[in-house]
Amino acid sequence: MPYFIEVILPLAVPRTFTYAVNEAEYQFLRPGMRVAVPFGKNKLYTGMVKTLHQNPPLLYAAKEIDQILDDTPIVTPYQLQHWQWIAEYYMCTIGEVYKSALPSGLLLESETIISAQQGYSPDTGDLTDDEYLIYEALQNQSALKVQEVTAILNKKTILPILNRLISKNVISLQEAVSEKYKPKKIRYVRLQEEFLKEEQLNELLELLSRAQKQREVVMQYFQLQARDRNKPITHKALLEASGSTAATIKSLVDKNILEEYYIEEDRVSFTGSATAGFALSEKQQEAFLAIKAGFETHPVTLLHGITSSGKTEVYIKLIEEYISSGKQVLYLLPEIALTTQLVHRLTAYFGNKVAVFHSKYTNNERVEVWQQVLQGSDKAQVVIGARSALFLPFESLGLIVIDEEHEQTFKQQDPAPRYHARDAAIVLAHAYGAKVLLGSATPSIESYTNVQSGKYALVEMKERFGKVLPPEIVLIDLKDKYKRKQMTGHFSDTLTEAIAETLVLGKQVILFQNRRGFSPWVECMTCGHVPQCPQCDVSLTYYKYKNQLRCHYCAYHIAMPTHCHQCHSTDISTKGFGTEQIEQELKMLFPAKNSWRMDQDTTRGKHGYEKIIDAFKNREIDILVGTQMLAKGLHFDNVGMVGILNADNMLYQPDFRAFERAYQMMVQVAGRAGRKNDRGMVYIQTYNPLHNVIRQVTENDYEGMFREQLYERHNFKYPPYFRMVRIILKHKDYEKLKNGAMWLYNVLAQQLNIPVLGPEEPAISRIRNEYIRTIMVKIPLGAALGTTKRQIQKTLDSMDAIAQYRSIKVTVNADPY
Ligand code: ADP
Ligand code: ZN
Ligand code: ZN
Repeated sequence: MPYFIEVILPLAVPRTFTYAVNEAEYQFLRPGMRVAVPFGKNKLYTGMVKTLHQNPPLLYAAKEIDQILDDTPIVTPYQLQHWQWIAEYYMCTIGEVYKSALPSGLLLESETIISAQQGYSPDTGDLTDDEYLIYEALQNQSALKVQEVTAILNKKTILPILNRLISKNVISLQEAVSEKYKPKKIRYVRLQEEFLKEEQLNELLELLSRAQKQREVVMQYFQLQARDRNKPITHKALLEASGSTAATIKSLVDKNILEEYYIEEDRVSFTGSATAGFALSEKQQEAFLAIKAGFETHPVTLLHGITSSGKTEVYIKLIEEYISSGKQVLYLLPEIALTTQLVHRLTAYFGNKVAVFHSKYTNNERVEVWQQVLQGSDKAQVVIGARSALFLPFESLGLIVIDEEHEQTFKQQDPAPRYHARDAAIVLAHAYGAKVLLGSATPSIESYTNVQSGKYALVEMKERFGKVLPPEIVLIDLKDKYKRKQMTGHFSDTLTEAIAETLVLGKQVILFQNRRGFSPWVECMTCGHVPQCPQCDVSLTYYKYKNQLRCHYCAYHIAMPTHCHQCHSTDISTKGFGTEQIEQELKMLFPAKNSWRMDQDTTRGKHGYEKIIDAFKNREIDILVGTQMLAKGLHFDNVGMVGILNADNMLYQPDFRAFERAYQMMVQVAGRAGRKNDRGMVYIQTYNPLHNVIRQVTENDYEGMFREQLYERHNFKYPPYFRMVRIILKHKDYEKLKNGAMWLYNVLAQQLNIPVLGPEEPAISRIRNEYIRTIMVKIPLGAALGTTKRQIQKTLDSMDAIAQYRSIKVTVNADPY
């Protein structure tokens, strides 16, 4: 009887592959274990067992596996099932899901490059002979390919050895992010077990009566232990407490009285504070109970609470209930940069039960959290993470909290899987029988629709915590201000005065402008020429400080020209304005004050974002100018006012969600004003003070916005009434792309009995020298979603079979919003 396994490979190949195993392996293996398998030309990959069976493949002879890599599964059956769902729903391969789900530390392959982990030095007995050989090789050579290790050890089966070296922190994988935490090994001492009983202790002290110094160390050891029974005693602590020398301790170790051992200090460890207790306010308590009641009848509850209503504290109490009943909790955030603040709040309450998982962590760190979650460790009862934390191997998931559920960053745009973490989380929770709490001050139209249809329960919090009034919103009519010549640069007199008054009171100011750079384009005043990126179909953004024109889509940049490249005129003018310009104007308007800018340009680097936030929290910055980064749930206590410099460029975006987003952005930014005790002020400069969305923001009329947008969505066939699948085609050859896109459009339009739009030249129709066309398929609510997607996929496969179109790059994005 032959034995086979179906293996998922971390590649964009459309299916699983069959490998042969022997009977013993067949008995041992289970889905979710990793196997090293040969694939392609002499390449080794880390594959994942999906199923076991006895049917030989029809089209090829099954190769044998190289090696089993795990003793027990490292992913759960729930995950395998979830991967399959993601692959089907988001129209990618299960290999792509697998590849992005696992930390690359668990995905060694032939080409993987390994290097020595800094700060490791071996002690005798730490490493096996094979392990030591690799360690040694890496002392002489900065990096090795996995393939090269095969040669060093003269062995085929090396992945298990490398996996062990990773978990022992001897080696690490080369990765773009540099290693942040140096794992520290801490030396501990303990008494050999036989001396633990009291009578033996007396014997021991007697034994040491002629070695006074050693006796003293043992006495001190007991004192330290008496202080805290369960706390391990470090070598250092014993040294200090006994005032003895390392030699004395060593002689006790040599006599087999004390024993030394090492524990790796957790790379990510937090100290909880005992003062973290708080009581929910009456409104919070009501919301807390209502959420629990909601969960009795609904798997998902939406908490619609205005900014500063105290949603986080409600989450905390709820999380507490779940972990005390032994369940794991996942807390998803839209933005890695928000984790610092939240980690502080949660660890103050839960101490070391909180783990953090996100892409900026190193491989070794991610592997560690992965293992903790898999083992149901106490250290990972609550996991905070951005969207990729969804892929952790939860063994008993009870609750998923999705904070700021309306945020578009929950959707992964590139690469595949192009999944929406909120939606995928709800599917995952269903498999575990877990509950999902969505929280937002400005829920997405989709989630609110699900409330209206009865799919989700709704809980509202309409008051700020501590009964602080919501911010007062003042509209400033720009047309009028320009007419009356009451503008200085981009600041109206009203806005300038408000800033000055706020600063006089010792309060801080946040200003919002959703474009970065100095100005989004420059224009020749003689011939109208606008410098463009030669590789992308966009105008170049002017950066005054660097005196450069830069492309926001590729790395292209040039010095700011002194004359027009077209007509040689020197009359070149900057148009529009971005954060850099606002910052400069502030330096003129408020020269004595410290103005700072927070956007993609100033927050590069690993801690760029945190540094600015900390400086602002510590009140080193008086005025912070920023892009939408400011809108994302940051909490500052001392912000007296918020100014929005131009509301209009949010409203007029070529996107069916523009109004929903503009509403969310303005309400969220406004919510940064006045938190702790005082009511805050918000000033909005606009050319359209009568615009419906502006009015809805001013009146805090979420439902009005919702109803109006829903009506538009219905009329124009958009979500939530239609699900969209966007197909993006790219090629350097304009004609080839045009023909291929047309071919695809015609076939889809013929085969599908639903709206197919395009092929369209998108607003930015060329990036990095590749032309772009898009085709949009709109699937009405009633239509069979799965069937339609499979039909689309089939059509794409047949396009791939046409030689002249094969080189066109095609990506598919389901729910591309
Ligand atoms: P939201 O997330 O709804 O915008 P937060 O949860 O950040 O609001 O709460 C706003 C502020 O009120 C925070 O500074 C928070 O620490 C404080 N706060 C909320 N609830 C409590 C409570 N029960 N006890 C003490 N402080 C609270
Ligand atoms: Zn010109
Ligand atoms: Zn470019």
